[in-house]
Amino acid sequence: MFEEHLKKLDDQHLLRRLQTIASATGPTVMLNGREIILLSSNNYLGLATHPTVVKAAIDATRRYGAGSGAARLVCGTLTPHESLEATLARFKGTEAALAFAAGYLTNISAIPALIGKDGLIFADRLCHASLIDGCRLSGATFRVYHHRDMNHLEQLLARRRTARRTLIVTDGLFSMDGDIAPMKDMAQLAEQYGAALYVDDAHGTGILGRTGRGTLEHCGVESRVPYHMGTLSKAIGSAGGYLVGSASFIAYLVNTCRAFIYTTAPPPASAAAATAAIQVLEQEPERRARLWRNRDRLAQGLTRLGFRLAASESPILPVIVGDPDQAMNLAQALLTHGVYAPAIRPPTVPPATSRIRFTITADHTNEHIDGALAALERAGRSLNVM
Ligand SMILES: *Cc1c(COP(=O)(O)O)cnc(C)c1O
Repeated sequence: MFEEHLKKLDDQHLLRRLQTIASATGPTVMLNGREIILLSSNNYLGLATHPTVVKAAIDATRRYGAGSGAARLVCGTLTPHESLEATLARFKGTEAALAFAAGYLTNISAIPALIGKDGLIFADRLCHASLIDGCRLSGATFRVYHHRDMNHLEQLLARRRTARRTLIVTDGLFSMDGDIAPMKDMAQLAEQYGAALYVDDAHGTGILGRTGRGTLEHCGVESRVPYHMGTLSKAIGSAGGYLVGSASFIAYLVNTCRAFIYTTAPPPASAAAATAAIQVLEQEPERRARLWRNRDRLAQGLTRLGFRLAASESPILPVIVGDPDQAMNLAQALLTHGVYAPAIRPPTVPPATSRIRFTITADHTNEHIDGALAALERAGRSLNVM
């Protein structure tokens, strides 16, 4: 049964395999004994390997141990988790914050805590899988609207029975396309139709907005969106998810989120690393500036070479190839030429939009970017995809 399933995936060029990396996921990595330029990590600001962040993780491990012992309601909240939440709330300008072991767990437990089977959810068609799973788990009636299409969302809002509790669900910065949700219009529709708004800012946090607070800051709607989620696993360079909002909202989550109540607290090291990373990103705004300069250099290079770039507004730069086998071939050719950026295929992205999703970080040098573009030119030429 397993073999049959795998063979079917392989025949459709949809089989996924793991690659072993024998180094940190920096601007380059060691893969099969070769140094390769990495263009696919979400470690946008390079904070996963920042000395201050690494030291914070080591110090916390020495002092608090490798594991947390139990769920926080069972054996207490360790100081590093409390400091992380205080830091998150200060950074985001909210009363309170709650940290989870993963962004995935945050979404699959917060959405069911916020809406039940009598409710109605409208979600962007390109929402992250963890949001979709959270929506399904809630048992609410679940409808998708066309990607970033506010007319479609408004039609759905206008057509429903108004008494029904309604949650609008979206990524802030879309993970596979790199474009940004129209948050001003969404906040307006939520207010006008009395719906709640659940924003996942996994990718916006740390990189968007004047001070890196994320998509809501970028769109100027922080005061109109009372709560939102994000992750500590991307620009923050550690692991975990979080929600920020009012003190009563956070206390409600502590009492209702099953993936908070029934799972062991994340290791002290990841909480301490995330706290240090937020401080570094506030103290070193030049990292964000370098990220955007690198993003423009890579985007301009890809366009100059004639690749079909998605309408990205961020350091996520997807080159749309179409068929999964073509995307696989391009990824393989890139690897041969010294660049690691895997093919993203259905079901992660819609059919016929298989792509190479390039991401760039603040730590890439001009030499890395130009070297990657030269590899792309050779790989693209050999396959006729540009
Ligand atoms: C990565 C991601 C998540 C999951 O976060 P993890 O911390 O990796 O579990 C959730 N939502 C979006 C939009 C993501 O890109």
